[in-house]
Amino acid sequence: MARGARSGDGAAGRRAGTPPDRICAGCGRTIAWRRALAADWDHVRWCSDACRRRGVRPVDRDLEAAIAGLLDARARGATICPSEAARVVAPDGWRELMEPARRAARRLVAAGELEIVQGGRVVDPSTAKGPIRLRRPAR
Ligand SMILES: [Zn+2]
Repeated sequence: MARGARSGDGAAGRRAGTPPDRICAGCGRTIAWRRALAADWDHVRWCSDACRRRGVRPVDRDLEAAIAGLLDARARGATICPSEAARVVAPDGWRELMEPARRAARRLVAAGELEIVQGGRVVDPSTAKGPIRLRRPAR
């Protein structure tokens, strides 16, 4: 089940009155709840002005599709590097797509379609630093 897809479940493990996390539609990171956003929390989509301005472009959807395509072509449990997806989308300009590929990976984690791992362990997409690998969640 996708994280954040539930509602009205009592927000187990959180202080009463603290709303569920929201995930940025751009970078896929958890949006920190702050009082200034409280009135419109259910409609907050972006973590920052930068993410809102950038939005989600066709190349970003291409990266999501490339990640899915690469994983579908591998054995169950196999991992890929985000750079592989970037190379699929832009063989000659893939370096510029490295951060967009990581953003695409985080969005797919938020959708429940992907895990980000480091050293074989699942890590928090919002805080992972350094090289990451991507795999399908175990079912
Ligand atoms: Zn963001």
